[in-house]
Amino acid sequence: MYFKDTGEAVFKGIGITNTKAVGKIKILKSASSEKREYSYAHNIDNEIMRTEIAIDKVANAINESSRRTMSEIGKSEAEIFEIHSMLLNDDDFLDAIKSEIRTGKYAEEAVEISAKRFENILLSLDDEYLRGRSADIRDIKNQILQALSEKEATKQDSEPYILVSDDLTPSQTVRLEKSKILGFVTFGGTPSSHTAILARAMGIPAIVGTGYISDDYDGMLALLDGAKGEIIINPSRKRKEQFENEMENEDKIALEHERYLRSLMNKPAVTRSGHKIMIYANIGDESEVSGAISNGAEGIGLLRSEFLYLSKNTYPTENELFEAYRDVAIKMQGRRVVIRTLDIGADKKIPYFNLENEENPALGYRAIRICLDRKEIFKTQLRAILRASSYGTISIMVPMIVSVDEVRKCKSIIEECKRELLSNGVEFDKKIEFGIMIETPAAAIMSDKLSSEVDFFSVGTNDLTQYTLAADRQNSMVGKICEENTEPVLRLIKACADAIHQNGGWIGICGEMAADLSLTQSFASIGVDELSVSVPYLLGVRGKVSECK
Ligand code: PEP
Ligand code: MG
Repeated sequence: MYFKDTGEAVFKGIGITNTKAVGKIKILKSASSEKREYSYAHNIDNEIMRTEIAIDKVANAINESSRRTMSEIGKSEAEIFEIHSMLLNDDDFLDAIKSEIRTGKYAEEAVEISAKRFENILLSLDDEYLRGRSADIRDIKNQILQALSEKEATKQDSEPYILVSDDLTPSQTVRLEKSKILGFVTFGGTPSSHTAILARAMGIPAIVGTGYISDDYDGMLALLDGAKGEIIINPSRKRKEQFENEMENEDKIALEHERYLRSLMNKPAVTRSGHKIMIYANIGDESEVSGAISNGAEGIGLLRSEFLYLSKNTYPTENELFEAYRDVAIKMQGRRVVIRTLDIGADKKIPYFNLENEENPALGYRAIRICLDRKEIFKTQLRAILRASSYGTISIMVPMIVSVDEVRKCKSIIEECKRELLSNGVEFDKKIEFGIMIETPAAAIMSDKLSSEVDFFSVGTNDLTQYTLAADRQNSMVGKICEENTEPVLRLIKACADAIHQNGGWIGICGEMAADLSLTQSFASIGVDELSVSVPYLLGVRGKVSECK
């Protein structure tokens, strides 16, 4: 919508948090965006230099990945990097990019066009192996585009800003300098997409699904209203003053309410009928632990371990993982820490994993499917978790389970890791607990059988909702379906909880629904044992449980 007379532009989407922000907007387009626009004049030497720097950066990252993979996983796994290296050093490929630049193209366009041409040549060949290399060309192209956009991102202004983006991937999000961001707006996405989850964890206002916002608004002042799901760009002075007054009043009320909630912080969360619910935190890394403790987290119910992988350009080593997990365990001082094993794929793409493009990535090669297939990567993580377990109370939890068979395979790999550590005299918690996420209708339906295999369950309502309702959590066009149909998901959770409790088991909720205060009563009635939420929601959920029947 556009108000011509005042010059204000208003965009509506779905609000993620109830807070507000005022600031200049910064438009960040994804590296592969077709609608890319350039805010500077074309200069051949400059564009060639940008390309060469980006290619150097990618080549260095690839060499590093190759070296680590060779020493930690194996020679055959490292071969993929040799192919990537060869392509990057291919003079024909570089010359093609340079000649596109000389015709007036920007580096990004030149890379796109040249890569496409090479890809088409390979796809037209009879040799199946060479045809398969077209995926490597696409992968290299994406990495160069990513490196080109990172170069631009370093030019970011020092002032905090409202980030507006067509599609912010989880790997872009984890690399952002969080202290500079006042709020998020994405053209697409839904409240359970990972960008929204990260915005909640950061406690900043965010809106998803606004539709296209033009680059012309870059740098303009804007009012972001998370509760209304609205961003007003170029507001009138009157509107800005009114908005800032509202913000001030809301901050006062929020502070008052927080004081009340803090008074409940050290009391157990018990419903009026006496049902106790543990209040745990969802975190991405160790930096969130102190916030979790100061907001009364009784444990960590979900450590999204893939964030550490997303923030790197190559596979983290076993030691790096071990140190990260150990630090969380130590800081939690004996409180329980549930580490969810690597959950990549779908929207969480990591270039050095070289995942193929898929038609339906959410239904494809992701999470435990990748880990069971690429066992050495899984074992590196499991050994790191086991080693860290002697520094606190750690549990292992695996995502995206659909069958008893997968669970047994995971358990047998964990046992293999334990044996390796034992034979090397490495300490770990021999009684470490093992649990699974209920994120698929299959796991929910099989929960009675699965109960005898695991120590605990945690429901990932974000994925369980998308798979139950057949509605992609990334797609803003079906976001409303998820918002409006909680009942089928709640019924599935109730059936699971009944089956699990009958078998003497324990069930928590760690998806975004756990923080939805309008559902707390339902979870209490179902009898869930734990609610695990982002740090800014810990106090609110604890308060709400004590009001439940
Ligand atoms: C979920 O699916 O609910 C969940 C907690 O996992 P993620 O959001 O990381 O997919
Ligand atoms: Mg999930």
